[in-house]
Amino acid sequence: MKAKIITIGDELLIGQVVDTNSSWLAAELTKIGFNVSSILSISDTSDDIAKAITESEKENELTILTGGLGPTKDDITKTTLCKIFNSQLKFNEVVYADVEAFLAQRGVEMNHLNKDQALFPADAILLRNRHGTAPGIWLERNNRVIISLPGVPWEMKGIFKHEIVSRLEDFFNLPENYYQTIMISGIGESTLAIKLENWENQLPKYVKVAYLPSPGLIRLRLGITNKPATESHNKLETEIKKLYKIIPKNIVSDTEVSLQEIIGKLLNNSNKTIATAESCSGGNIAKMITSVPGCSQYFKGSIIAYSNEIKTKLLNVNKQIIQEYGAVSKQVVEAMAIGACKKLNTDYAIATSGIAGPEGGTLNKPVGYIWIAISDSNNTISKVFQFGKEREVNIKRTSIAALNMLREYIIYNS
Ligand code: ATP
Ligand code: MG
Repeated sequence: MKAKIITIGDELLIGQVVDTNSSWLAAELTKIGFNVSSILSISDTSDDIAKAITESEKENELTILTGGLGPTKDDITKTTLCKIFNSQLKFNEVVYADVEAFLAQRGVEMNHLNKDQALFPADAILLRNRHGTAPGIWLERNNRVIISLPGVPWEMKGIFKHEIVSRLEDFFNLPENYYQTIMISGIGESTLAIKLENWENQLPKYVKVAYLPSPGLIRLRLGITNKPATESHNKLETEIKKLYKIIPKNIVSDTEVSLQEIIGKLLNNSNKTIATAESCSGGNIAKMITSVPGCSQYFKGSIIAYSNEIKTKLLNVNKQIIQEYGAVSKQVVEAMAIGACKKLNTDYAIATSGIAGPEGGTLNKPVGYIWIAISDSNNTISKVFQFGKEREVNIKRTSIAALNMLREYIIYNS
């Protein structure tokens, strides 16, 4: 069953707003069995919208639009839909009551623009919006469905989950698609591909594999389409077991969760706490850890020890070892981790020190040369990495490598 996603808005075309609606909708539609054939972004003009819809209908059973449903003059999706469906806008009492209730909840009075939102295409099915004023629109013709949703991401997502998924499942006879994503760290994409070559060769054709690399982390997506879910699930379980045998230490998780969520679970389960002492990562590891709700159970804090002065004053790193070995060294990064554990009174500490770039590299310590240490009360380990030249990527890779080192340390050394 083919679907097309069309996002509407000049702001998308001039690069002012990043089109996150498409990727979210594509993932959700794929989950329920659609084959997303293409994604298109267009301007807010009636002609472009009408053309995009009629073109899409020729090839796709489902067309989903987002944007241009609001109360302002530039929002013309609703009137355009009426034109191409020969429908009329009619006052809709349910929409009016919803808009009134939504505004009342926020202590806002209705104005004439809000009142216009109660005008709804007479031949459409109403998709109620719990998070905003513009409702979604569902239209059908020739066994095809066209859905129009507001552009605001949380409104669009709310309507999709509450009003659309079950309607689509009732309307279309959808095949069962099954995907599972394995999170892999501590290995490069090509090395991984070589290690998995034999495993990939023995896979039946109906099992699809995709490598999705990002700095420090590779997502390996396995997918089976058009088979009953339990059969697909069992087949992928068997294949994932084989993967665990080939790359036991590199599999961070066999579901799509972040490294920081995994660390959170490991620390919570063992009732342990963590702190970070960050030089080249500048607090990014702490930011990642604190993106997980409930992290206050295990995360105590961070010292961003960027200057040598802070390394010595707050982390008790001996001045002499900084002079002797330099701030980016095994000795200093280990001392930082030990210092953080003591100062913040935690079971574990992560420390980083490196040359993030783009300037500041030397022959012996080029840009991307980074030391990471993990310490607990008994032991301290450290590792050196040579990443690339991009500052932002180096910070990301340092953070992922550090969290992965901690993960391995907790699992294999504690
Ligand atoms: P509203 O009732 O808020 O006017 P609308 O349906 O008219 O809703 P738009 O005016 O097109 O929606 O967009 C509202 C806001 O939603 C935009 O400013 C933008 O921040 C965000 N937005 C729109 N389209 C997208 C998209 N494809 N991806 C991410 N954000 C988007
Ligand atoms: Mg708008």
